[in-house]
Amino acid sequence: MARAPTGVALACRAGVVGRGAPVLHYVALHEAAHLLELNHSPRYWAHVARVMPGWQAHRAWLRTHGHTL
Ligand SMILES: [Zn+2]
Repeated sequence: MARAPTGVALACRAGVVGRGAPVLHYVALHEAAHLLELNHSPRYWAHVARVMPGWQAHRAWLRTHGHTL
């Protein structure tokens, strides 16, 4: 029998999901861009920036909070 999640657990999950969607988009884009460039060269980041301007904010968020996902 599954235990009902506590309010705290639900709040944490809501926070991750609410912020997680664009971050997950960034992760998917990051991997897709590696199909074009197998490295993190300026050309690679140009591909990422073309599809997702402002990707730096998502990368920074992942560096800070990624271990909590
Ligand atoms: Zn990469």
